[in-house]
Amino acid sequence: MGKERKLSICTEVVHGAQGYDPTTGAVSFPIYQSATFRHPGLHQTTGYDYSRLQNPTREELERTIAKLEGGRFGFAFASGMAAISTVLALFRPGDHIVITDDLYGGTYRICEEVYRRYGLEFTYVDPRNPKEVEAACRGNTKAIFVETPSNPMMKVADLGWMGALAERAGLWLIVDNTFLTPYFQRPLELGAHMVVHSGSKYLGGHNDTLAGLLVVDDPELAERLALLQKSEGAVLAPFDCWLLLRGIKTLAIRLEKQQENALKIARWLSTHPKVEKVNYVGLPEHEGHQVMKAQASGFGAMISFNVKEVGLVAQVLERVETIIFAESLGGVESLITYPVVQTHAAIPEGIRNRIGVTDTLLRLSVGIEAVEDLIADLEQALC
Ligand SMILES: *Cc1c(COP(=O)(O)O)cnc(C)c1O
Repeated sequence: MGKERKLSICTEVVHGAQGYDPTTGAVSFPIYQSATFRHPGLHQTTGYDYSRLQNPTREELERTIAKLEGGRFGFAFASGMAAISTVLALFRPGDHIVITDDLYGGTYRICEEVYRRYGLEFTYVDPRNPKEVEAACRGNTKAIFVETPSNPMMKVADLGWMGALAERAGLWLIVDNTFLTPYFQRPLELGAHMVVHSGSKYLGGHNDTLAGLLVVDDPELAERLALLQKSEGAVLAPFDCWLLLRGIKTLAIRLEKQQENALKIARWLSTHPKVEKVNYVGLPEHEGHQVMKAQASGFGAMISFNVKEVGLVAQVLERVETIIFAESLGGVESLITYPVVQTHAAIPEGIRNRIGVTDTLLRLSVGIEAVEDLIADLEQALC
């Protein structure tokens, strides 16, 4: 064997971990639709015993995401929330987590309405403000949980700085990398200990399945997570693992096209007389642009923007034709969302107003359609 050659991530996404089935040569990794596996003899195993513990299709996906994120251990779950729940189940009553204030609504809900009941404590901080993050850490703090760029305000956290703080204070840095995926950002390389994903978004990429993924590099942590995964059982089914594997193959070209479209749309929105403010990290005037440029290889394709009057919200949502008014993001179809009543309804009004999730804010997940069609659609919806 020659020296291991580092392939481009554009190649890695196409070929996955093994990339093909070693038994048959099938180029599309097979869906091992089996709950259980025959033992060759007493005390013998093929390596697979029961699909909650391990399944070959899931294993291929878990190894693929681990490889892409640059960690040694991957885990696939039934949804992003199942992955996040598993991370939170690592903690004990009395443990404290510093978490970013501009956050996916479901993550806020599971912290406040589920894990707080089990004795976990959370402090919400502005991820852009290192002093605030550091000041929130106290004796019982065990982790910092960061979304970057954040949902839906597109705030950027400096992951290198967060990683250094975590190191100094002996904390885990957990990063929700859903918005950028390892194609654009690899938090483990910047000092994170755990990376979580909603695979329902860019990794799956087609708005056809829910999935959650988790990657770590520390074997001890991986062992604890494997125990939680098999004990709680919220694993991703073989068919859905295959959908994710298929989606990941085109991650690079999808994201390139989505990002290209997003930049053009963000620029167009910025000059529109009925648009107040545009949040897109790819715009040089975005306050997080430089940090993101330094720590990621792209800016993604998520935009949020404020319209000038609240009356325009219903008009835009009802008039869009090519762009679909629906929750979720990251797929090939462009979607528009109204965070205040959809994705962020679980967050109390006071917090929403403080972070900027107001009744004039719309969120756009830019797809791979022809950008002129998307702009024409927004134009007729806003006029
Ligand atoms: C969608 C989403 C989640 C939750 O994932 P599900 O697959 O819907 O359970 C978590 N974090 C972010 C940033 C998301 O966008």
